[in-house]
Amino acid sequence: MRRPAALALLFLAFAGLPAMAVSAAELRALQLVQGEAGTRAVLELDGTVDYKVFTLANPDRLVLDLSGSRLAGGFRAPSPNGVVTGVRTGKPAEGDLRVVLDLAEGVKPRSRVEREGGKARLVVDLMDGEAVARSAPARTVEDVIGSGERELVIAIDAGHGGKDPGAVGPSGKYEKHITLAMARELARQIDADPGMKAFLVRDGDVFIPLQQRYHKAREAQADLFISIHADAAHNRAAAGASVYVLSLRGASSEAARWLADQENASDLVGGVELDARDKNLAAVLLDLSQNATMRVSDDVAAQVLASLKGVGKAHKQNVERANFVVLRSPDVPSMLVETGFISNPGEEAKLSDPKYRERMASAIVDGVRGYFSLQAPPGTWYAARQGQFGGSRQHIVSRGETLSQIAARHGVPMATIRQANRLKDDTVRIGERLTIPVAAQVASAPE
Ligand SMILES: [Zn+2]
Repeated sequence: MRRPAALALLFLAFAGLPAMAVSAAELRALQLVQGEAGTRAVLELDGTVDYKVFTLANPDRLVLDLSGSRLAGGFRAPSPNGVVTGVRTGKPAEGDLRVVLDLAEGVKPRSRVEREGGKARLVVDLMDGEAVARSAPARTVEDVIGSGERELVIAIDAGHGGKDPGAVGPSGKYEKHITLAMARELARQIDADPGMKAFLVRDGDVFIPLQQRYHKAREAQADLFISIHADAAHNRAAAGASVYVLSLRGASSEAARWLADQENASDLVGGVELDARDKNLAAVLLDLSQNATMRVSDDVAAQVLASLKGVGKAHKQNVERANFVVLRSPDVPSMLVETGFISNPGEEAKLSDPKYRERMASAIVDGVRGYFSLQAPPGTWYAARQGQFGGSRQHIVSRGETLSQIAARHGVPMATIRQANRLKDDTVRIGERLTIPVAAQVASAPE
């Protein structure tokens, strides 16, 4: 609903193509090449098609379903190469084409469409564990539109700036500089995730009023807003990170203000002009939107806090509620992260260290990823992969086992396990039964 109309139309047109296509697209060639990013499958098509890529286990396979497609006359399957041990084709439904790549091991597929005139090339990188670690994933807008999956937009708000330095540390470090450095590192890591992209609300030493900050995030159609700060207290010993969401009082006073503004109210109902009678409708819509937004804010914030506890001690054990102006978007889930106390000499030094900021940012991104890998908005890259977490298995914690070992063993992000088991931190107890969301084992899928 918050996407621009042009983009929405493009998605529709794209999704509608296969069913309406007069002549089916033909798969002319399939090549397997070995490269830096593992094995790459390149499919040459004579037109654009809607496609699905998924993996199956036991035995490991990668399946490509191409709607409204068929094999061109004279098509020849390539010989095995790299991780691919065999190539088969079939028809999952009349008019559709399925290509199955038998694999020597499980892979993480990453696909994109390249267009050239009327032709299309579907490129699928089959990355093994090593390749995943090596690759610096760079997805372009074109890639995302090509696969009909948008990236989640994460707005990052570096607190303070310009004439407002924020708090000042004992050795003279300014909060505004630390928050900007942290925000940029966060953006770098978010942009490296294939399903997310960052929007920096402030990318320079400039002053931006608080209301403008969340307005900018709404304009950027953010799925999540994260405001970055560094705490200060008279007590120099105060230490640790905290995570805040908007308090109910803050939300209801903001609701009153929103409804008082005609333009805001009509924005909520998709730009339709409201007359006086419709004010009730606007109130109901705003209420629904705010409830949903606050629920998501709570859940993501809990994930982020749990994740931050893995980096250092938390100042507060639970997500806090406060009436922060910057968190008042009625329809963008928002949180504020106090990354540590700049007033504490030890934490001032840590927050000024790029290596430490990298770890903090990585913990924040891990929490965000953990949330969205289970509950992503429809139409997003993450939503398209939610099926991968469709199944689950049980794991009973044995002596000496840590959450990170368990996560590594099952090949699942720590945050995903935390979220599935509502863990408040990374502590697990011997004998504890954990639910491990795993890739769906669709052994019975038709081929
Ligand atoms: Zn601050």
